[in-house]
Amino acid sequence: MKYRREFEIAYVGLKNGTHTYTYNIGKPFFDLVEADSSEFEAVEVQVVVHFDKHPDFFELKFEINGAVAVPCDRCGDVFNLPLWDEFNLVIKLKEPTGEEEGDDTEDDGDIVFLSKNETVIDLSEWIYEFLLLSMPMQKIHPVDADGNSTCNKENLALLEKLTQQALEAEEKAKEEETKSIWKGLDAFRDKNNN
Ligand SMILES: [Zn+2]
Repeated sequence: MKYRREFEIAYVGLKNGTHTYTYNIGKPFFDLVEADSSEFEAVEVQVVVHFDKHPDFFELKFEINGAVAVPCDRCGDVFNLPLWDEFNLVIKLKEPTGEEEGDDTEDDGDIVFLSKNETVIDLSEWIYEFLLLSMPMQKIHPVDADGNSTCNKENLALLEKLTQQALEAEEKAKEEETKSIWKGLDAFRDKNNN
């Protein structure tokens, strides 16, 4: 687990003030946090973390900048989805109470508590979480300067054709099913009438 150590901040020995860490995130990072990266063809994201140390709390700012190559939700072609986002996090130190490191979240958002027993802060889970948050729900080709979709038009036409065919096949299957139900009923009637 040497790789993960890269994401740990040994804050105890740090001076108060801001420290900056830069991480280049690729597909191996997803293995590291045991997350599925199969929906991404490629991941190339830089995460810059500004870690501002105060005596009893830390202010963190995560700057996400890069792109993921993903299949378009509409046309299926792989394209580069640019990512750019910023997230803030406050970590407060608390007296150890024997409980596990809590992620009790206060009303105003991202405040987490860390037991004073801990000596390092592992950023990997947060980086993963913020990376996901920086992605839009729908991953669709952007529009060009004229406002036109840059989706693969051939794919869309084909998709429409296939959808139509699937609908027709479904209709047909339903008809057949109805027919066979009536056939079964008829046979049932015949049997009872005899
Ligand atoms: Zn598309």
